[in-house]
Amino acid sequence: MPKAIVIEKYCKSCSLCVEICPKKIMAISDHTNDKGYFVATCIDQEQCIGCTLCATVCPDVAIDVYK
Ligand code: SF4
Ligand code: SF4
Repeated sequence: MPKAIVIEKYCKSCSLCVEICPKKIMAISDHTNDKGYFVATCIDQEQCIGCTLCATVCPDVAIDVYK
């Protein structure tokens, strides 16, 4: 099962991963990292197809996709 894991300390809440995910399973969560950014998270790992678009688009290299 593919999985997209956000490394929260690197996330800057830009939402690019939310916009690009073809399965619409990335979302900005309601909790912040130590820099005060609301961090992105994958809300339904079961639906992840491991396309890595979220990881590719992230300007802060804050997403690891495991296949
Ligand atoms: S790997 Fe693809 S399907 Fe999975 S969360 Fe990222 S963009 Fe969405
Ligand atoms: S693209 Fe990267 S920095 Fe932007 S919200 Fe997603 S995980 Fe955070």
